[in-house]
Amino acid sequence: MKRVIIIFICIMGSCAYPQADRFGAARERMVNVQIVNRGITHSATLKAMRNVPRHLFVPKEYETDAYEDYPLPIGYGQTISQPYIVAYMTEVVNPTKKKRALEIGTGSGYQAAVLAEIVDTVYTIEIVPELARESAEKFRDLGYGNIVSKFGDGYKGWPEHAPFDIIVVTAAAEEIPQPLIDQLAENGRLVIPVGAPSAVQELILLTKRGGNIETKRLSFVRFVPFRRL
Ligand code: SAH
Repeated sequence: MKRVIIIFICIMGSCAYPQADRFGAARERMVNVQIVNRGITHSATLKAMRNVPRHLFVPKEYETDAYEDYPLPIGYGQTISQPYIVAYMTEVVNPTKKKRALEIGTGSGYQAAVLAEIVDTVYTIEIVPELARESAEKFRDLGYGNIVSKFGDGYKGWPEHAPFDIIVVTAAAEEIPQPLIDQLAENGRLVIPVGAPSAVQELILLTKRGGNIETKRLSFVRFVPFRRL
């Protein structure tokens, strides 16, 4: 009988499943304590953070740390960002249903999944081939059909799908790649950590208005370096 009920729930569509529910309370606590309490108010962002099973985006051995307040290693010298940073970067680009987003630095796939809960389509590029392959499998397994991913150097953006309403760069660049600015739509927003790899970097928000770029410095952060092929 129990099995029949679980299958029925899955058929009804909420299929991040019994497995995700194991961490449901931890995820709710993460959102309330780390994200709402620190001032994130964008409701679609909060809903997405409540939905995405973050523990499925970290290596198995870190599963029980998945909802804690720090970044975690994902292999190949890379990290999944602290949950608050993901929420903050999502909120500042103001995602809504009809928008198209580009992410540079797929990594674990978590930030792409959070965006994909809200926007129409997420395009995401990863420079480490193994991470690109693993995240693509994850998107498929979890049913994120609106994420289009590829292996490559995100410096050049993805001109075939431009312009983008949202561009999120999750690796620290010494300068903002001009192709990304060019591929930003009118009224589009681009968020990127800028600074030397070994130092603290600054999170910068660019908004394109009337073809001009407005720049806002948001906060100090620490990200893995932006690499080139
Ligand atoms: N958004 C990721 C964060 C991963 S860390 C997540 O949610 O897990 C940043 C990622 O950017 C790393 O996986 C790194 O390999 C990748 N990266 C660095 N330089 C890149 C580039 N030029 N193009 C694409 N990806 C890049």
